[in-house]
Amino acid sequence: MTSVQQQNGSQQNGGGNGSSVIEGTGTFRDGLLAPVKDTRYQTEDVTDTKGRDFEDFFLKRELLMGIFEKGFEKPSPIQEEAIPIILQDRNVLARAKNGTGKTAAYIIPCLEKTDTSLKSIQVLILIPTRELALQTSAIVKEIGKHMGVHCMVTTGGTSLKDDIMRLYNTVHIIVATPGRILDLASKKVADLSNVKTIIMDEADKLLSPEFQPVLEQIIGQCNPEHQICLFSATFPVTVKGFCKKFVPSPYSINLMDELTLRGITQFYAYVEERQKVHCLNTLFTKLEVNQSIIFCNSVNRVELLAKKITELGYSCYYIHAKMQQANRNRVFHEFRNGATRHLVTSDLFTRGIDIQSVNVVINFDFPKNSETYLHRIGRSGRFGHLGLAVNLITQEDRAGLRRVEQELGTEIRAIPPIIDRGLYVG
Ligand code: AMP
Repeated sequence: MTSVQQQNGSQQNGGGNGSSVIEGTGTFRDGLLAPVKDTRYQTEDVTDTKGRDFEDFFLKRELLMGIFEKGFEKPSPIQEEAIPIILQDRNVLARAKNGTGKTAAYIIPCLEKTDTSLKSIQVLILIPTRELALQTSAIVKEIGKHMGVHCMVTTGGTSLKDDIMRLYNTVHIIVATPGRILDLASKKVADLSNVKTIIMDEADKLLSPEFQPVLEQIIGQCNPEHQICLFSATFPVTVKGFCKKFVPSPYSINLMDELTLRGITQFYAYVEERQKVHCLNTLFTKLEVNQSIIFCNSVNRVELLAKKITELGYSCYYIHAKMQQANRNRVFHEFRNGATRHLVTSDLFTRGIDIQSVNVVINFDFPKNSETYLHRIGRSGRFGHLGLAVNLITQEDRAGLRRVEQELGTEIRAIPPIIDRGLYVG
């Protein structure tokens, strides 16, 4: 029985595979496919809300339909905070952990604000990496599917000509990496003069010194009466100078007073470098891995390890920044669809990527700093579900491990002989 039935006693028909059509509620839900209910355990990051409903934000009916079909029953804390403020056209600085519903917290108000009777680009969503841009545009399309909103994604590493052709058609929302959109805007192919909402996701990465001048130029092409909303898990000092200049009187949302990684149990195993593959093999046989992401510190090591894992007889893909974009997209897509159980990657993969079925993350190589650790480990335990992180630690990594524990105020314990499956199998 789904929650919709429980709440209002309505009828649902069809779908032996879990999906069914809702009837007789007398609400916007009639005729929609009931999403399959997610019954996994969730942590307070996503359940500790003020108890609002999406209906409380007076959203368009067509938008509520998309939200419902996506399976979102109630707004998460970051959504409760951010949606009404973005709808008020204010500048926003939002600090929220990965995996707590950050993306929909800005996509929902952006969709609400979009006027589909106009033919202009009204919302610009800036994203630092190509994979994340693709994922984000897919969510815009999904949630906005009943609204007639046209969303386009444009990133480096793809044909500029195709993008130019697509811009001949109506586009309301653009999801872009900075370099490509600046290119299109400077060539006067993308007209940003009606963009009144600029979203910057993973803002700390976007505002790294290499991107900052590009961003300033992009903002200069948008409507002078724009709002800027920055979303990030971390807000380093580099971001502060930018905010002073470009994001006046922002509304601050901070749902990350403590940077603990709730819901994710972290272990370390002391090993020597040459024992690492053997140790990984043991982990694979002992753990109930639904899907895992395994991090290495260099492109070379990613490829070598993927080869070794395959030789051990496990299904495995790899992805890194030196691969061609089309290959990266294919691997990402197939892993997400469950084609392989394991994915070996470099830090390319650390930001914002959302694959719900990943319940184990392994640091085959320990990361260089706490921020990278946080982003890597955040790949499991999405939307407050449980996850496991295992760090293979050599003699040289010991100090780094302690530093991460201190800086993040978290505990990484020695791996026990038997790991309770209740810690990471939902
Ligand atoms: P994010 O923090 O944007 O990466 O989102 C993490 C995951 O939470 C994604 O898989 C979303 O589909 C899911 N999610 C976001 N908002 C909600 C919600 N209100 N209810 C249930 N799941 C959600």
